[in-house]
This record gives sequence, structure tokens and C-alpha cells, in this order.
Amino acid sequence: MKYRSTRGNIKETLNSAQAVIKGLAPDGGLFVPVNFPTPSLPLTDLSSLSYQETAKMVLSWFFDDFTTDELDDVVTGAYGPQWDDSAIAPLSAKHSGNYYLELFHGPTLAFKDVALQVLPRLMTKSLALEQISNDIIILTATSGDTGTASMRGFSDKEKTQVIVFYPYGGVSPVQLKQMLGQRGHNLTAIAIKGNFDDAQTQVKQIFNDQQFNRQLAANGFQFSSANSMNIGRLIPQIVYYLHSYGQLVKRGTIKVGDAVNFTVPTGNFGDILAGYYAKKLGLPINKLICASDENNVLTDFFKTGTYNRKRHFYLTNSPAMDILVSSNLERLIFDCYQEDDKAVSELMAALDHDGSYQVTAEVKAQLDQQFAAGFASQDDVIAEIKRVYDNDSYVIDPHTAVASFVTKQYQAKSDDHTPTIIVSTASPYKFPETVLTALTGKEPAVGGLDAIKALQQELATDLSPNVQVLFDQTPRDEQVILPGEMEKLIATVLKLK
Ligand SMILES: *Cc1c(COP(=O)(O)O)cnc(C)c1O
Repeated sequence: MKYRSTRGNIKETLNSAQAVIKGLAPDGGLFVPVNFPTPSLPLTDLSSLSYQETAKMVLSWFFDDFTTDELDDVVTGAYGPQWDDSAIAPLSAKHSGNYYLELFHGPTLAFKDVALQVLPRLMTKSLALEQISNDIIILTATSGDTGTASMRGFSDKEKTQVIVFYPYGGVSPVQLKQMLGQRGHNLTAIAIKGNFDDAQTQVKQIFNDQQFNRQLAANGFQFSSANSMNIGRLIPQIVYYLHSYGQLVKRGTIKVGDAVNFTVPTGNFGDILAGYYAKKLGLPINKLICASDENNVLTDFFKTGTYNRKRHFYLTNSPAMDILVSSNLERLIFDCYQEDDKAVSELMAALDHDGSYQVTAEVKAQLDQQFAAGFASQDDVIAEIKRVYDNDSYVIDPHTAVASFVTKQYQAKSDDHTPTIIVSTASPYKFPETVLTALTGKEPAVGGLDAIKALQQELATDLSPNVQVLFDQTPRDEQVILPGEMEKLIATVLKLK
């Protein structure tokens, strides 16, 4: 299995271990398989395979540099007792006509755990396979969920160091508690005086600072990235599409071969792209429904064929989806343009320089066939959490509520009666303030852990172990620096000479 860049020459290829270590292609493109796997997808067997067995099967299609034993090790370690539910990704009963695929039973209470429990294990094995002696520095700018899940995933992993930068005052109280409470000899989380974009811009600059990279190398270090563009994060996400389909078959809701829809609350387009890959592998998906919040750049893209990032940026109650440039969309574009790297490079250059690009009418028609799209306002989110709870006593988080609202809207205006799975990306306890506001009709007087307690009282349920643990951790003191001091801080953490 070889990988290439979406913007680069097809002759320049890497094996999967190299692609995992590099994360992003040097030309700014994303790694994609040179030959997309064409396994005979065992549709009939999906209902009897465990989550772990499905994961091993999918990983073996994309990471064939690793032995079966190595992948076994990765999957067993990734999906073990650190999950609150032994099903890993349980599918809910039918609520308000649809099914919710719960991806938030991992250690940091959001779907990023699904991939970030796998990536560090793949990374360690990739370093061994490639005989890389440097330690890997995972540098991450985060608005919340990625930082917590990366720190948890890489905690005490050999030959790796994680340095996370987050906006001071810009992450939720629960996320802050998770980052400052996470233990591990190789973890650092630092607040910067600025917003997420300031952190992200600096991280990119530091990544490309040649002199700093040479200094790192001289000290036995090299950078890598755990962001959602890394194939080591993308591929594990294919698994839950296959597995949840099997669950509907097992329940007798559908027959093998029947189509389903998936609605995905979308930010960087990584989650929904994995659904597209599942379809490419042969899973009968009718529509992938792309759900956005008020940052509805993707809704407009699917409606008009023009991607335009020149617009107001909103901070919403679904913060993990507050994004204007959805990086993983590039892989979909690459596919729709029949793997034409020149066309992709031109479109992405236009996005860089002019802030927008337009796809051809042909590609637009292709997208119309496979995707639907919609968005929810913050008020819609509040109302949707309440509606689902009042109907079914089922509690959803704000991100899931975006998807749930968009599903309802889509079903009301189309005559599509395909069974629909709503991808549920975070625990309601990760965003307790918004959920309490929705359920009680007023903003809670408390935040963070106190809001979790208040929500628990409101719902009269027990806290799961992964929520409970938040109350047992003693957080470190918060350290705050200026964006311009990030490089110096990295040098200090790594004791660079
Ligand atoms: C990251 C995240 C998303 C968005 O996923 P993408 O892969 O970036 O589209 C949605 N919901 C939650 C809770 C997340 O953490």
C-alpha cells in the first residue's frame, strides 16, 4: 500500500508508516492511497464482527506494512477498558425516528478518542519500522477536543512528546480541566494570549522554520502532527460506519444490502470523509448529510459548488465545529477530480490567494448525488436538545444536536425515508452548560464540574467512570504565554542545546 500527496506527483510515494510519521505532505497536500483498496467487503459478516475485529480488518486494508500481530496489538490497546462501554461505539435505540451512533464513550468524552487511541500506537510502531531514532514532537494547536484527546492518547508513549497550545480563556471549563489534569511524563499544555487562529498560525510557522528544525534534529527530535489530516486518524474512523451498519442488520432494521444515511456534525471534514471512504469500500450509503453550525461554509459549498472562506467567523455553542477551512475536503475534491493533482493544486492555491474556489458543474452534480447539507443556528441547537429529550428522554450534546436538527430539516423537505444514523460526537457531560440551558430553559449559574453535577441531578443518572474521573484529578497550574514566545517555550520544554 503506497500513499501519495493530493497535490504531488503520483511517482513520489511513501509507505503507510512514513505517511503516519510525516502527517502532512511537504507540498501542503494530504496523503491518499495511490490505489484505493478494493477488498471484497464482507457485508453479511458485519453484524457478527466485534468492533475490534472490524477495526483490524479495516486497518489491514490501509496499513499493510504492519503484521497482523502488530495491528492486533494496536487495536487491542486502543479499544480496551479505557472505554466506558465495551461495545466501544454503541448505536442507540430509535429516537425521534433516527439512530444515534455514540462515539463518546472514550477517555476524553468526544469522538476524537476513536482515532487518537489508535494513532499513537501506530506512530510508535511506524518509528520502529522506519528505524527512526529521533523522538517525535507532536505539536498541536487546539480549540479543545483535539488537545485533550492527543494528550490522553500519547500519555507516556515511548519516544514521543506532546506540546499543546490552546487559546487562553477560549476552551470550555471541562476541556481545560482535562488538559491540565492529564498525567504523563511527555505532556505539556500551554495557554496563549490570542485566539485559536493565532495559535494555529504560529504552529504552522514553527513547523516550517528550517533553522529550528535543524536545531531539533541536532538534539535528536523531529516534528510530527496528530491533526485530523493524518491518515492514522482518518482510517480508524471508517470502522464505525461499517460496524453501525452491521448493528442495524443485526437488529433486523435493515437487510444486508439495504442503504442507510449518515448525518455527520462536521468541522474539518475528517469524520464525514471517513464515511465517504466507507461508501467507496462498498458500504451501501444513500446520502451522507453534512451538518454545520453557523459557520456554514460547507452548507453553501454543497448548495452552490463554490467554497468561500471569506466570511464572518462565529464562536458558537458547538465549538469543535467552528471552522472556516475544512482541510479534509481536499481529499474529496481529489477523488471527484479523478485524482488530478494539478487541478487540486490550482483549487487550493485559489483558496489560499482569493479565499475561494469553484468546482466544475460535473463535480457539482456528482456531489449532489452523494451528499446533502444543512446547518443549525445556536438557538436551533438549544431547541433540538430539548425536543429530543422531551420526546425520548434521550440527552444529546450540542454538536450532535446540530446533526439531529439538520436531519429533521432534511427529512421534512425530502421524501427520503432511508434509515438514518446520526453520528453523535460528544458526551452531553462534556458541554454541560449548554445542555442545562436547553433542558431547564435558563443559563446555569455554575460552570465546569459544578455544571456536570447540576446536569447529573437534572437527569438523575449515575456518572460514567470517564466523567467521574474529572472529579478525582488535581489540575496543574495554567501557564500563559504570548504567541511570539511559543518557539522559545518548546526549546525550554525540550531542553534544546
Ligand atoms: C472534532 C469534532 C467534530 C468535527 O469533526 P471533523 O472531523 O473535524 O469534521 C464534531 N464534534 C465534535 C464533538 C468534535 O470534537
